[in-house]
Amino acid sequence: MASPSGKNSIALVFLAAAMVVSCSTTQNSQTTPSDSSLTSAPGSNSAEPVLTPLTAATLAAPIPVTATDGEVHLAYELFLTNTLAQPLTLRSIEPVSNGVPLQSSISDGLLPWIRVFGATRPTETLGPGQSALAWIDVTVPSSSEVPEVVEHRISVAVATPNPPLLPAEMTEIVARTTVSTQSAVVIDPPLNGENWLNGNGCCGLTAHRGAVSPLNGQLFAPERFAIDYVQLTSEGKMFNGDRTSVNSYPYYGSDVFAVAEGKIVSMVNDLPEQTPGADPVGLTLDQFGGNHVVQDLGNGRYAFYAHLQRGSIPLEVGDNLTVGQSLGKLGNSGNTDAPHLHFHIMDGPDPLASNGLPFEIRSFDLTNRIMNQDNLDSVTDSGAAAQFATGVDTGRRSNQMPLTLDVMTYDVVQQGS
Ligand SMILES: [Zn+2]
Repeated sequence: MASPSGKNSIALVFLAAAMVVSCSTTQNSQTTPSDSSLTSAPGSNSAEPVLTPLTAATLAAPIPVTATDGEVHLAYELFLTNTLAQPLTLRSIEPVSNGVPLQSSISDGLLPWIRVFGATRPTETLGPGQSALAWIDVTVPSSSEVPEVVEHRISVAVATPNPPLLPAEMTEIVARTTVSTQSAVVIDPPLNGENWLNGNGCCGLTAHRGAVSPLNGQLFAPERFAIDYVQLTSEGKMFNGDRTSVNSYPYYGSDVFAVAEGKIVSMVNDLPEQTPGADPVGLTLDQFGGNHVVQDLGNGRYAFYAHLQRGSIPLEVGDNLTVGQSLGKLGNSGNTDAPHLHFHIMDGPDPLASNGLPFEIRSFDLTNRIMNQDNLDSVTDSGAAAQFATGVDTGRRSNQMPLTLDVMTYDVVQQGS
């Protein structure tokens, strides 16, 4: 989500860096060897202060979660700021633990994982004083290999060096972060039946992961692990016939079920259905979720079920839901362009001003995986039949987080509503 330029917010940092450089004076020109690496110090553990023209911090401590690829994922974001009065180019970002590189998508290539605030396209260059977000997905093979601390080895280059303080290229070790000892919450599925597709889920840079919003003066990533559920027909289609009619989507009106026990802390039940095929306009922030339920799961976790049908929630705030209790019907209200259930877990009761938490589904069948995002786009936009990836390890899964493009069968043990 777009954000105002960070220039004003980093003015003090920018000035401090400029002073350090200008006090060193005597512009030495570029004849000085430029391959020096200014820092090899371990970030905040360093005894000696080192100049790091790129500052970095995580938005939230990563929480490990096991996904359907069998890997344990740490999905989080880095907030980056170029404190210089000149452009700074990123060469690489590498999450490390005790100096050892961790497997991560951004280590394989910076794009598409970095976006400057206000820009829609990914970039490797931060302009003077600009801030950006970098989306990180570290994976380790098992829970026992989750690091306690992650740091980030970031190599940068500047066009106008001023050695020895500001060499042309340097490597920083920044954003030392303690990995959370919290576990992903284990829940039951929110839907029942075959061919439920995970759209926009973790851990690529999907619309959900990219939805980092400036609210109340700070950044929030509520949809970090959110899933948009749609159901494919036996032919692999999402809709038949007129795309702009909710009735063309066979799963429209499916029951949505409570994923755990807990009280309803807020709900909306009176917003109109949108016309599929186009993004709604004119919505206020509090209408984005459409008709929805927020449920307190305890331990600071809240479940969010969004875009439900108008009038379909037969409940009130304060009602205690049991696992598998029907809480409403899948609809197309709020900020939505086709019937779906938006579901996520968050660390506060506000669906936007909160941070997304990972979750694992207790038991389900992984039956397919859509080939790629382009194919999913053709399924959602033109009604094409899904094409499935080959070699997917299908079958029963326990305590795993579905990944984006997964197709699953859910068995909800339904309770009376
Ligand atoms: Zn969504």
